[in-house]
Parts: sequence; C-alpha cells; structure tokens
Amino acid sequence: MFCNQCQETAKNTGCTIKGVCGKTEETSNIQDLLMFVCQGLSYLTIAARKQGIDTNAESKHITNCLFTTITNANFDEKSIIQVVKDTISYRDQLKSKISVSDTHPSISWSAKSDAEYYEKAKEVGTLTYDADEDIRGLKQYVLFGVKGMAAYAEHAFNLGFEDPEIYNFMEESLVMITKPISLNDAFNWVVRTGEHGVKVMALLDKANTSTFGNPEISKVKIGVGTNPGILISGHDLKDLEQLLIQTEGKGIDVYTHSEMLPANAYPNLKKYKHLVGNYGNAWHRQLDEFETFNGPILFTTNCLVPPRKTTTYNDRVFTTGATGMPEWKRIEKRLPNGQKDFSEIIELAKTCPPPTEIETGEITIGFAHNQVLALAGQILDAVNSGAIKKLVVMSGCDARQKTREYFTEFAKQLPKDTVILTSGCAKYRYNKLQLGDINGIPRVLDAGQCNDSYSWAFVALKLKEVLNLDDINKLPIVFNIAWYEQKAIIVHLALLSLGIKNTHIGPTLPGFLTPNLLSAVQQQFGVQTIKTVEEDMKIFKLA
Ligand code: SF4
Ligand code: SF4
Repeated sequence: MFCNQCQETAKNTGCTIKGVCGKTEETSNIQDLLMFVCQGLSYLTIAARKQGIDTNAESKHITNCLFTTITNANFDEKSIIQVVKDTISYRDQLKSKISVSDTHPSISWSAKSDAEYYEKAKEVGTLTYDADEDIRGLKQYVLFGVKGMAAYAEHAFNLGFEDPEIYNFMEESLVMITKPISLNDAFNWVVRTGEHGVKVMALLDKANTSTFGNPEISKVKIGVGTNPGILISGHDLKDLEQLLIQTEGKGIDVYTHSEMLPANAYPNLKKYKHLVGNYGNAWHRQLDEFETFNGPILFTTNCLVPPRKTTTYNDRVFTTGATGMPEWKRIEKRLPNGQKDFSEIIELAKTCPPPTEIETGEITIGFAHNQVLALAGQILDAVNSGAIKKLVVMSGCDARQKTREYFTEFAKQLPKDTVILTSGCAKYRYNKLQLGDINGIPRVLDAGQCNDSYSWAFVALKLKEVLNLDDINKLPIVFNIAWYEQKAIIVHLALLSLGIKNTHIGPTLPGFLTPNLLSAVQQQFGVQTIKTVEEDMKIFKLA
C-alpha cells in the first residue's frame, strides 16, 4: 500500500504498512483499484456525453466512489469490492452503447475472482501515476482535491442540486491522471481544481440554504436531557432531516456530533424540538464519547475511527452513504416514501439509557455569510474604529496529533482585538474557550461545516468591494488553516484560486508536495506551514 492523502500520513511521506487512520493494506489497495476502474468509467462518460448520451447516473456513481475513498469514510473492503464491480458494470453497459477509441487498460480490465481484484489492486496505486515525482505529486494533488470536491457534490445532489460541469471536471481529472502531462499543465490543472472547488462550495451553499434556510445565530446545548438519544455524525444534512422526521413524537432526543453541529443553526432543522443539542467534540474523540453516549450512533459521512478491541458500542453504530466499517451495520432499506429507513436505529434507541453528561452549557453558532453580512455594518464600524484590528480565519479540520494543541494556544494568545472566523471541525480546539466579544460581536464566529469556509471567502470578497480595495490581500484578514483530509485540500485550493495569498497551513504541509512543488506553491501563493505560536503571531503582525 501507499497512501499519502491526509495530514497524518506516516512520517509525512506515506503510509506503507497500515494507515495511521487504521486503514488496512487491503482496504487501501482496493480503494486504489476503485479509482482505477473509475478512470475507465470516466473515459466512457466523457465519450458518451460527446455522443449525446446522458451519463447522470454514472457521474453520480463516480462521485460516490471518490467520496468512498476519502480519509476515514470507508474501512469496509468487502463493500468496496462490490462498488468496484458495480463500476465495471456501469462501464461495460456504457461501452455497449458507444464507440470509444481510447485503449487505457482501465477501460477493459475486469476480474473473475476476488483474488484477482486483490492482485490488480496492488498495481494501480498513486505511485504509478507518473515516473516524475513532481508530476506524480501534482496528479495526487488533483486527485485528492477532486475527492474533496466529490464529497461536496454528493451532499448537493442529495438535495437535488447538480452542476454537470463539476461532474465533467472530476471525470476529466481522473482521465488526465492516466496520461502524460507536462509539469506546467499539471500545475495549471491544480489551479483549475481550486476554481472548481469554489463552484462546488457555492453549489452546496445554495443547496443547503435553499433547502434548510440561512443559518441563524443559535445557542446550542452541550449537556444532555433525560430521554434516550440518537447521535448523528458526519456532514449530510438530508440524512439528519429524515432522521428528525422519523423520530418526531417518539420520546427520543437527537444530538449532533462533530461536523453535524452546524445543523442546529438551520431554521428548517432547528424547528424540530427533539434536536436538542450537540454531544461531544471533534471526530477523533469518538472512541470515548460513543461509550458514554449510551444510545445508537448514525454516521452519514466521515470521520469514522476503527473501534478498539475493548469498544462496547459496535452494536450501536450504523453507517450510511459512502461510509462503512466491517463491525458496524449499514442502513440499506428505504421507506415507501423514498426516505432512508431508520426504524432499526429508532427501535434500538428506545431500549437504551439516556446519554451520560460529559459537558454542560452552550455554544453559539450560525455565523455563515448571510448572518455575517447582516452584521457587516457593526463589524465594519468596529474595524474602522480600531476595536477590531484583525479577522483571523482558522477554518479546517481537527485531528488527534498533539501538535494540534498549537491551534488552541494560538486562539488563546490572539490579542483581544481580533476575531476568529472558523468552520469545519478545527473549531473544537477553541470553541469552548471563553474568548468574550468585541462590542457584542463574539470573538469566535462559526460559519459551519468545512465547506462553509466558502462563507469566509464570500465575506472577504464583499468586504473588499465595500472597502473599495483593489486586492483582497489588503483586507485585515489573515488565514491560519488546519488541514487534515481531502475536503480541506479542496477548501484551501479554492481560497488560493480566489487570490488569497500568504495562507498558513498546518500542523504540517502535505506530504505529496515535493521540494520543487513546495517552492512553486510558496512562490505563487505565499503558502507557509505553521511555526510556533509566537513566530506566527509576529508574521501575521498580531504581536
Ligand atoms: S488516509 Fe491518511 S492515515 Fe490513512 S492511510 Fe492514507 S495517508 Fe495514511
Ligand atoms: S472537517 Fe474533515 S476532519 Fe473534520 S469531521 Fe469533517 S471530514 Fe473529518
């Protein structure tokens, strides 16, 4: 195996024996094989569209395959082998309808036994993408960005919002990886990936706000009630809505977990009184927090952590969508009305004790772009009067490494005339600190999930317009981003494509960036890795 797609990759170069995330060699290889057969299917979807054939079903399937291989989404190699077979079946059906002149092996390869799948899986990893390490690194950069893009595209299509151009770009990218390309063209492809990242985040923003309303400032309880509970994790708001509909009036409380926290700010979700609050923290603390939750847990998307040998909650955890874990059950059935059938989870919840309280109090969320723009006058006044000196975007991901304490320390040491703009699960490093407010504006403004980093780009562009600046980098905004998995890669690329320079990312730079690529990214975009809190304060002119 070789996997270097996330920030925790071994020695910051690549996991080669077993994933730091817990992914086994077999699962990692089968995920590579899934990308290989998706390349074959992409050759055909692109050709089919040129021949006037609708490929929407195939494009959605490719999107789901990309999402399945994202960090901490799916550890169930058996179910992934089935998805490989489904992909080959899509491919061969399409092949029978069109003429295709390309001859890449992914267009014709198939196997007769699972043993053959495992054998082939060893030959198609990302190290085979190019002999030149810089071009290979750029192809990996595109692939990982496209995986993040797929996650957002899938959430959007689940809500009925699609953009064929995004599907086409993801498929063109999968095909590009199979072909020779110059360094310059590969670099430009990375830049284009960021441009499509902006589009997909805008699409998802539209899907979420059109369906559930604009997030509004909301206080969310972090303690517990006395009813049995269901905990819902991941990012898919439609799954949450269906769970809320099906649990209404049943004496069960629904709690959000990790990246589902922002759901509590959407009017059409918070209207359900049995959505009672958020339980726990960022994903990596689930090993302890699921024990004390006591009731069933539903994973709609990543981040899953493989259970410990001593874990007692395996029979309480359910997966759906792109997620999977061999020890946990999957929600496969649908109700006659088309909704996912959560009755098994609901029946189980009724037999469970209520959650054990691990925290008390509340946190304030709901500062997505619409709400922030409503406060724009107040924020501008505070900036103009000097009450707010700088806005510090600290969006991104959280993870388990000790080095991430940097972000808590950075938040604590920020001068009192700064405001943190956050989104993604990175927020859990500081969203329960009492950082106070500036003239009634909280010092931590939480826009929502990682894709809601789009809100900060949106707000920055509006401020540039209002302040009549010729360059977005002249705004009093700095970016100190915590990255972990591929959604953070697409978010960061999107920010770069909007012209935002001198971003800091950490705790480390991506392992797939070779020294040459690092220097190119630094030259063109001024990207730097985080240093110490004190050094970064000076660089950002905060100290
Ligand atoms: S997802 Fe990250 S931790 Fe898991 S195998 Fe890949 S690089 Fe390693
Ligand atoms: S923001 Fe990233 S790291 Fe955090 S839960 Fe979502 S996918 Fe996982």
